[in-house]
Amino acid sequence: AKKSGRNQSVLFKQSLRLEHNVRARIDHELRKAIVKNELSLVFQPQISTVYGELVGVEALLRWQSSELGTVSPAEFIPMAEENGQIVELGLWVIKNACLVLRQWQHNQRRPINMSVNVSAGQLTDPNFLKNVTEIINATGVDPTGLTVEITESTAISEMDNVRNLLEQLSGLGIRIALDDFGTGFSSISLLRQLPFDSIKIDRSFLSNLTRESQDWYIVKAIQDLASALGHEVVAEGVETNQQLSLTRELQCDVVQGYVFSRPLPLNELEARYFLPQNR
Ligand code: C2E
Ligand code: CA
Ligand code: CA
Ligand code: CA
Repeated sequence: AKKSGRNQSVLFKQSLRLEHNVRARIDHELRKAIVKNELSLVFQPQISTVYGELVGVEALLRWQSSELGTVSPAEFIPMAEENGQIVELGLWVIKNACLVLRQWQHNQRRPINMSVNVSAGQLTDPNFLKNVTEIINATGVDPTGLTVEITESTAISEMDNVRNLLEQLSGLGIRIALDDFGTGFSSISLLRQLPFDSIKIDRSFLSNLTRESQDWYIVKAIQDLASALGHEVVAEGVETNQQLSLTRELQCDVVQGYVFSRPLPLNELEARYFLPQNR
């Protein structure tokens, strides 16, 4: 038993070292990702439950590294948040999302909203507002078509500064969404502290949704609360037709999930959802 214990701990140390090396390589390669043109955005459709049509998309970051292959955002975003690279990556995301949005505002007959994810490290960067304003001016985008998604943990870091900043963004016409709602500890009190336009119910509540299950009552309560407070509700991570019809019954406003589509590259999204132009 003693011997195998020692072997296990050797293995454990090896795997820690491996883990450390992987992280160091990701860190190193990520610094070059923008210059090497390895980043891209994919766009996941958001569909109105009432009208069944596309009302917006969420822009999600993708990294195809020449050295490491495809690296998941679940892996590199937390690292970029830790080492501060998220500020630069985040501006790249906002700029490129705005370029796409500007094009749609020019070409499409109906408005399509563009949501981008914003981490705590971005919101607390003293230049964030100035940089976003510059991107809006440089791209010529109408900011009322833009939504920033923040999570609860983002919101509660430096609450006073964050509130101030969100109010200024809101003043520019940008919409504010509370992401992953229900997973943290203070989501409900946040609703009265910050100027949210919409809340996104975390997908963990939708993934096992059946009628009159515990999750069904939770989603119902969130929906009732949100609509009483005047917030739009987005149900995230809806995968099956059964879940979809329940979110309709529960009067969620918008659905985002595999039941409609995975996140798509721009050309696929446009081919699927937009009428051919210039005819
Ligand atoms: P998130 O903001 O909660 O984004 C939704 C995630 O759920 C996406 O994963 C999406 O592909 C996935 N998803 C959508 N529909 C379904 C579904 O029906 N079922 C399941 N199982 N999953 C679904 P993705 O693209 O891997 O992104 C993971 C996380 O990485 C995001 O979670 C977000 O926190 C972060 N992230 C992605 N792009 C950015 C970015 O540009 N900036 C920042 N700060 N974070 C980002
Ligand atoms: Ca999000
Ligand atoms: Ca607003
Ligand atoms: Ca989410």
